[in-house]
Amino acid sequence: MPAVTPVLDRLLELSHQLGREERKLAILGEGNTSARAGEGTLLVKASGSNLATLTAAGVTECRMDGLVGMLHERSLSDAEVDGGLFTSRVDPKARKPSVEAVFHAFLLTLPGVHFVGHTHPVAVNRLLCTRHAPAFARRRIFPDEVVCCGPESVLVPYTDPGLKLAQAIRRAVQAHVRRTGFSPRVILLENHGLVTLGATPEAVLVATLMAVKAAEIFGGAAAIGTPRFLSRSQVARIAGRPDEHYRQKALGL
Ligand SMILES: [Zn+2]
Repeated sequence: MPAVTPVLDRLLELSHQLGREERKLAILGEGNTSARAGEGTLLVKASGSNLATLTAAGVTECRMDGLVGMLHERSLSDAEVDGGLFTSRVDPKARKPSVEAVFHAFLLTLPGVHFVGHTHPVAVNRLLCTRHAPAFARRRIFPDEVVCCGPESVLVPYTDPGLKLAQAIRRAVQAHVRRTGFSPRVILLENHGLVTLGATPEAVLVATLMAVKAAEIFGGAAAIGTPRFLSRSQVARIAGRPDEHYRQKALGL
């Protein structure tokens, strides 16, 4: 499949970047990545493979409509979800995609989203396990956080991984788009982890690394005193500033 090869290479490189041990974003089989591939398909990490050492054999091409269709089912048993994951594969000999492939497929249908990265960063999860999670999602602390992570993140209340989580992510993202008028770059899963979206693998990586940095700064500020956030108008100004648009473009966001 020559048409898919460049996307696969970019997806593997993104996975290796997110899996770097010293970044503390994911260990063992944690996290997953995906990309829009051919006509109506996506490439997604297979269940159980490792981000740091991911190879083409650990990536499965799936049909988007098969996965997105499951979001509209009120309730499916685990066996039915597994069946849906298996039948969504383009190549029936490919490995089973991660159960999180369902939310990846949904996010890849959003305008301008071509790559998605999901990790469990220590610094972000530390905050998502506290009462500070809503402020971390809604507010911004420094300008580059606005540039790389967008003016606001989506916060998804804790839900067990699987189809229910994918449905909760869809609900929260749709509510966010209705309220703010823009697609998110960062989605925070309470007591679970981080999802970042972008047009390029670089945008996904930058949003991940900047969300981690923001979490570290937020945590440090909360330990010293009360965090002081940028005002709404400061955030809006930075999000709309022409030179910041230039920087976003230069960073491939
Ligand atoms: Zn996860």
